[in-house]
Amino acid sequence: MKIGFIGLGNMGAPMAANLVQAGHEVTGFDLTAPAPEGVAMADSAAAAAQGREVVITMLPNGQILRAVAAEILPAMASGAVLLDCSTVDVDSARAVAAAAEAAGLMAVDAPVSGGVGGASAGTLTFMAGGSDAAFATVRPLFDIMGQKAVHCGPSGNGQAAKICNNMILGVTMIATCEAFALADKLGLARDKMFDVVSTSSGYSWSMNAYCPAPGIGPASPADNGYKPGFAADLMLKDLRLSQQAAEAADADTPMGARAAELYATFVEAEDGAGRDFSAMLPRFEKRGRG
Ligand code: NAD
Repeated sequence: MKIGFIGLGNMGAPMAANLVQAGHEVTGFDLTAPAPEGVAMADSAAAAAQGREVVITMLPNGQILRAVAAEILPAMASGAVLLDCSTVDVDSARAVAAAAEAAGLMAVDAPVSGGVGGASAGTLTFMAGGSDAAFATVRPLFDIMGQKAVHCGPSGNGQAAKICNNMILGVTMIATCEAFALADKLGLARDKMFDVVSTSSGYSWSMNAYCPAPGIGPASPADNGYKPGFAADLMLKDLRLSQQAAEAADADTPMGARAAELYATFVEAEDGAGRDFSAMLPRFEKRGRG
């Protein structure tokens, strides 16, 4: 396939490299990032999109996605698919898909889970929104870049799945960290706490697979000085997207709202910026209620 790839940062570069490795012809564009091996760079987003069967975007946010879409949609060949894998707000995903359809194109929003490690290994999970025909066209690309793709419904539903998942993740990570800090104060050893909770009703991915306590459970960023992994800044971005969506849809999400507040304080007023999102544990360790 002839593929355009716009946004070749931490995630986009290894995803594009995997497509090249699988034999696809990839033309890229990025404002600053260098060309991944085997990717021919164009000198504008429109040039990278022109004549391509699929154009993939992996960009920082919805505002940038809307701007890039306005530039590339007129350049795209009729019937081509715009596949946005960025994490953006549901409204931007739906607006871009509507603009693509109005221009005679197809669109799929397919944010990912799995981080930079998953992007490099080709083991991402894609959660996709769009028509059956659009999903079927890009499915072989999901199989190269990832290990699982779920078609979640029409445009925007991929983003909806992503922010609902990450709202649960943010809340369970905070709950796991505050419970460890409470256990410390009660004199309960962390390894005993892990042993009990990881096989009891308090278990979660945050506890079992990504334990925030160093030296306990499988290897995680806690064992590496809380170097990300999944940065607290990105968790904050996703929690803000879920609160924005909840407001727009009139949904009551009090735990998501509190998690967004805690991560905002952690990233903006404490030492959380650039640290893994599980570094909430040392934050709670240091604090009493006062
Ligand atoms: P990044 O900042 O490393 O990459 C974004 C790239 O987009 C940069 O190279 C930047 O130069 C480029 N860019 C910005 N504006 C552009 C424009 N107008 N035209 C062309 N290129 C432009 O970010 P990332 O970590 O690769 O994340 C990309 C997306 O994936 C984000 O939406 C993020 O939320 C999502 N995501 C990231 C992770 C992760 O662990 N990093 C995990 C899941 C989802």
